[in-house]
Amino acid sequence: MLDSTRINPTIVMKYLALILAVLTAPLMLTGCTSGDADAFGCATFLSEEGTMTSPDVDMTEGSEFGRGLLSQFTSFRLTTDLSMLSENECRMLPHLFAAADQMESIFWKQAWGNRDELLDSIDDPALREYAKINYGPWDRIGGNAPFLDGIGDKPAGSNLYPPDMSKAEFEAAAVADPELAGLYTMVVRDADERLKAIPYHEAFADEMQRASDELGAAAEYADDPGLKEYLMLRAEALMTSDYQPSDMAWMDMKDNRIEIVIGTIETYEDALFGYKAAAEAFVLIKDMSWSERLSRYASLLPMLQEGLPVPPEYKQETPGTDSDLNAYDAIYYAGDTNAGSKTIAINLPNDEQVQLAKGTRRLQLKNSMQAKFDKILVPISGLLIAEDQREYVTFDAFFGNTMFHEVAHGLGIKNTLDGSSTVRGALKEHASALEEGKADILGLYMVSKLIEEGEEEGDLRENMVTFLAGIFRSVRFGASSAHGRANMIRFNFFSEMGAFTRDDATGTYRADYDKMILAMNALTEKILRLQGDGDYEGVAQFVDEYARVPQQLQADLDRLADAGIPVDIVFEQGLAAVAK
Ligand code: ZN
Repeated sequence: MLDSTRINPTIVMKYLALILAVLTAPLMLTGCTSGDADAFGCATFLSEEGTMTSPDVDMTEGSEFGRGLLSQFTSFRLTTDLSMLSENECRMLPHLFAAADQMESIFWKQAWGNRDELLDSIDDPALREYAKINYGPWDRIGGNAPFLDGIGDKPAGSNLYPPDMSKAEFEAAAVADPELAGLYTMVVRDADERLKAIPYHEAFADEMQRASDELGAAAEYADDPGLKEYLMLRAEALMTSDYQPSDMAWMDMKDNRIEIVIGTIETYEDALFGYKAAAEAFVLIKDMSWSERLSRYASLLPMLQEGLPVPPEYKQETPGTDSDLNAYDAIYYAGDTNAGSKTIAINLPNDEQVQLAKGTRRLQLKNSMQAKFDKILVPISGLLIAEDQREYVTFDAFFGNTMFHEVAHGLGIKNTLDGSSTVRGALKEHASALEEGKADILGLYMVSKLIEEGEEEGDLRENMVTFLAGIFRSVRFGASSAHGRANMIRFNFFSEMGAFTRDDATGTYRADYDKMILAMNALTEKILRLQGDGDYEGVAQFVDEYARVPQQLQADLDRLADAGIPVDIVFEQGLAAVAK
């Protein structure tokens, strides 16, 4: 028998140390298993390593004009479930964020010029804050109107070309020097006022060097070989402006939980020619369980294709089942992607040669979608959805509808029935709106079939009411957006078929579930026939007739604006925000 009063404390400590060593040995051997960051203390580590930025959109100082502009945005903190990360994954984050910050600095130069000089010159704190959100003095969600006195119109070529350069001057010079039209060059004037191309890795040598070093440092902690390879090749790409090898490696990596999209990527900032890529970065954490569900849905596409409510010839193509579609939490946005309204889905790479060799990857940013749901869709429902149906507006249904939309792009047909053309080629400028409309309606069709077949649990009423509320959100994008037009078409088509009714006493809309199924099938057939027939005239007429905002709907949209329901979001973000 042991007498507790006589235990030797040194011996106890030795035993305890031994027991602890045995217990923790497996963890130390498999440093990359998920969940050990909790024991390591990822949150504490991150909050000690970094800071956060929080745009002040509820500012009480500053002009009324400036505060009015800010109030179109609402703020949301970017974080994720840190207990999912390994210690090494956690240790990568400060390096990835530091690399992303360099893209922030490059984008300021591409979009405006000297950031600090601009911000220091603004006395009104509200307008200074708005300039940060816009990366310059032009209102990105307000048609790029200048919001500071003495600032002219935004140059179409942003700061990527000399502001005094004309199109004609550029085109003449580009004949002799094709580098001027390069994707990865800045155009400046040399000492003799002639146009000159400077490669990004020279124009932004400091930033690129630092970002490259940080990616290299992050690679040291990468346990996933695919991720390590990508980070090392991307570090090289930033120094050479040759992104192709790293884009290939990016498509090859499949099992990584940590994801970073970084570099000079999209060309929207160049509204003059669309030649120049702008700097941006996303740091993302993959949602492994959603990603698994999505690949299962993709495998069901052939079965769903067979069940489409159209004659056989309109569903004769076999949908591909190898989708690279994943869900993520975004934990950092930098540069181009953080300017103005926020991206909630990414489809990359843009390099056609990589697309042909490896396809593309679609990335859905779940927490950013949650922000738009909580801060925009729920308030919209509070005004426009019948009170007893509001409980069916749920994030799961919203996210599900969005994901099914993405998978549903794979259904239907890509070529016209007579084989003369692709659907896209035949329908020209109407192709995108119709394709987006197809994906929306077939997304709803998919979820209804999957619930019917017992492949998916859920209450279809949630998907339907959330779908209806989503139409009001997306109609606000306006007729200049393919998504906006697709939603107007659906609103009018559904209205005609009685899929919803409006109660004039309360100014709310109510879904009629049975009629919505009928309308869904009818709209599916309408769109797939137009696509299969490559019927350009028919689509033009359909869009003309249905892509409108009727007076009553406009009055209801005005009520949303009057109620101050925000148009978009800004992020409270940084290592400390992730750890908070
Ligand atoms: Zn789409």
